[in-house]
Amino acid sequence: MERDFYRHPERFPGNADGPFYTTGYQLDDGTWCGDCMFCGTPEMAAPTLLSPVTGEDANTYFVRQPSTAEEIEQACEAIDACCVGALRYGGRDPRILAKLPAASCDYRKPGYLHRLVRLLFSKRSAI
Ligand code: SF4
Repeated sequence: MERDFYRHPERFPGNADGPFYTTGYQLDDGTWCGDCMFCGTPEMAAPTLLSPVTGEDANTYFVRQPSTAEEIEQACEAIDACCVGALRYGGRDPRILAKLPAASCDYRKPGYLHRLVRLLFSKRSAI
């Protein structure tokens, strides 16, 4: 899993270190409240990656980062499931960026110009 990822200032502190995360906000007493909580829909999409909703802790957050292609799919499905955009991807992997809406990502998908430059440079180095 990549080490270089965006550190969102509203990243919920319960999230495991890594590019998939949820957002929240800090209360006056210093505790955090997640932006996504209670309904359990994202947790159904990624049950082994997200904290289970309980009476004591209904916040949604990544207890671990995905490590397989199947888990990455689940993490992306959980991001899609959140109705307020509180599950996010802060990494730069173009394969993952391609699966997600731009609004859920901190970095942009490689655009046409970027792909063209890469293609040109890869052909030059092959000559
Ligand atoms: S998916 Fe939407 S309704 Fe469900 S807990 Fe998250 S923000 Fe609330």
